[in-house]
Amino acid sequence: MKLAIEKLKETILKSENILVVGHENPDGDTVGSVLGFSLLLKKMKKNCLVTFPNDVPEFLKWLPSYNESVIASDRQDKLLTLIPNYELIIGLDFNEKSRAKNVFKLVENSKAIKVIIDHHPYPEPYFDIIISEQEVSSTAELLYHFIESCNWTNLIDYNIATCIFTGILTDTLSFNVNAFRPRTFETAAKLLSYGINKDQIQQNVFESFTEKRLQFLGYALYKKMKILREWSAGYIYLSKEELKEFCFQKGDSEGLVNYPLSIKGIRVAALFLERENYIKISIRSKGNIPANEIMMKHFHGGGHLNAAGGEEYNLSLEETIEKFEKILPSYKSYLQQQ
Ligand code: 5GP
Ligand code: MN
Repeated sequence: MKLAIEKLKETILKSENILVVGHENPDGDTVGSVLGFSLLLKKMKKNCLVTFPNDVPEFLKWLPSYNESVIASDRQDKLLTLIPNYELIIGLDFNEKSRAKNVFKLVENSKAIKVIIDHHPYPEPYFDIIISEQEVSSTAELLYHFIESCNWTNLIDYNIATCIFTGILTDTLSFNVNAFRPRTFETAAKLLSYGINKDQIQQNVFESFTEKRLQFLGYALYKKMKILREWSAGYIYLSKEELKEFCFQKGDSEGLVNYPLSIKGIRVAALFLERENYIKISIRSKGNIPANEIMMKHFHGGGHLNAAGGEEYNLSLEETIEKFEKILPSYKSYLQQQ
């Protein structure tokens, strides 16, 4: 790890043109990390471009310099012409290139050095430099540690600190999840010392609902949640039609999957969303229930031990749920322990 940090530091110092990439369906951690790091690299006089595979949810669009990023799904042509200019490509908050498919398809033949900074398990060996650490709250926190290791904290300013703090705040759901290490709070404290407006950030990301979104949440919890006591499990499922009815936008389901876990005795929770041609699955768990293994083995997905996701392309919403229910008994030893 120390070696990788040294190597990346050296590579950044040598590079002039750097492409910074987030993952598909960007969340606060990837957006905060990518924008924060690119602002820092720009301060080092690098020619730096940010790209996200698809657009960022509304509640993150206020982040400094979001407006300068290129959304790959809208601008494949532009990216295609730009990509040969970049000698260094840095991905943040993902562990395999398939999480930023439409970007990495374009860089296949490029000679650029490819790097990831990430906190998911099992980083893909495809990357030339891998800064991977699971014992952190978020990629944003890991990015701060990297900046510290390089002695670049003097470059951090209000905007950069705002981006990085937003990454930590969103990935930990306001320091509720995966935020038990002193170092996470020490990092947050250091970021606060740049004068950032924590309350405003909290409002922007967690308290900017539309009325419709709150009604959607109410509907999902009242009408579309099923609890399986026997398996300490709960799930929420929504069809295409229901999503349309509530004018569902990316980001509207943020945090929804966590609700069943707040019921006493529930230790695994899933969310099934019927999208255009596949079912998107999110899963959260408590203790040692391996959410990522369930997704990896059965739903072409992955993630962390307690927070993972996947996709099902061959089954209907009902069939996907049926498959999930059938899988639960094979995790009996995890689910039935208290
Ligand atoms: P979410 O449920 O919030 O979309 O994702 C939770 C975690 O699972 C994130 O860390 C994310 O990177 C990972 N994840 C979500 N969907 C997928 C997927 O389709 N494939 C993989 N490999 N990881 C996913
Ligand atoms: Mn993350």
